[in-house]
Amino acid sequence: MWLLLREGVLPEEVLPRLGEQASLAEVRRLGERWAIAFPTNGVTAEAFSQWEEVERAVAAEVRDFPLVQSWAASVEIGTWRRGEAPLWIAGPCSVEERTSFLELAHALSALGVHVLRGGAYKARTSPYSFQGLGRQALDWLAEAKDRTGLPLCVEILTEAHLEVYLVAGVDIFQVGARNMDNYWLLTEVARAGKPLLLKRNPQATVNEWLLAAEYALLAGAPWVLLCERGIRTFERSLRYTLDVGVLPVLAHQTALPRIADPSHAAGEARFVEPLGLAALAAGAEGLIVEVHPNPPAARSDAQQQLTLDQFARLKVRGEALFAALQAQPHGASANHSKPS
Ligand code: PEP
Ligand code: MN
Repeated sequence: MWLLLREGVLPEEVLPRLGEQASLAEVRRLGERWAIAFPTNGVTAEAFSQWEEVERAVAAEVRDFPLVQSWAASVEIGTWRRGEAPLWIAGPCSVEERTSFLELAHALSALGVHVLRGGAYKARTSPYSFQGLGRQALDWLAEAKDRTGLPLCVEILTEAHLEVYLVAGVDIFQVGARNMDNYWLLTEVARAGKPLLLKRNPQATVNEWLLAAEYALLAGAPWVLLCERGIRTFERSLRYTLDVGVLPVLAHQTALPRIADPSHAAGEARFVEPLGLAALAAGAEGLIVEVHPNPPAARSDAQQQLTLDQFARLKVRGEALFAALQAQPHGASANHSKPS
């Protein structure tokens, strides 16, 4: 059993109430709060959930990632209706200039994109590369949201930025490949009660990835959008190897929504569409795609960003594929349902 204590509650206040279990209990720190773990011995979580000091009780021995595996809430993302069409998240790798970004946001909205992405603080491999425009970019993202009504998905690198992201109206907090296993960041972001788009670290196993999602759900994220963005293998012809095989595995392990990022996996614009379509065919419920007003001039990831026209084509083809896969001649159920 896991008891996540409310902020400010110390383990010493709760341990005496556990009776004999207290001697077997382990106390752990989770972000700013304390958690107590002890053998469940057949007791259910419900009784503990009633305790005033307890924010959340989870019968964690039952499954490896109890919240990820039993998650059954609904997902609300702008106008997207889960199961009816792919989720489209699109926008530039980094937000670089106001006018062209606002024009792009309007064009993406007109194409039926559900969520606008755009980098503000960038996680670049080289310290000499463009690091993003930071707060300036957040201001333009906020303006784009205001003008188009599109929800925003922005990568967050540190919990020190949480407040400015909330002020800018960021709706989905992207935790990128480099931070998937930054458990402190996951916990602090999730505490804001916002959903996360959790990219897979290219070195992470599915188990490690889902445990990272477990941190976020445990800390209060209403849902986590799992995003496969390519893993590191021996193969070098593409930037990463898109693990399409992980998509049916995720559908089997969890009812959390799952999407793919063909842009970072491909690394080259010409390969983005085939990878995106392959991901949808394998059960991705949507795609996050980098689209730039003028890709060759982009200050980050120039080679992989699509033009608006290239994106529009991918969207039409992806939707046709998705619809074809939804046709169920033998009455089979759609595969985003909860695992049994
Ligand atoms: C991004 O989405 O711009 C990004 C940096 O992605 P990743 O974390 O997958 O590298
Ligand atoms: Mn990028």
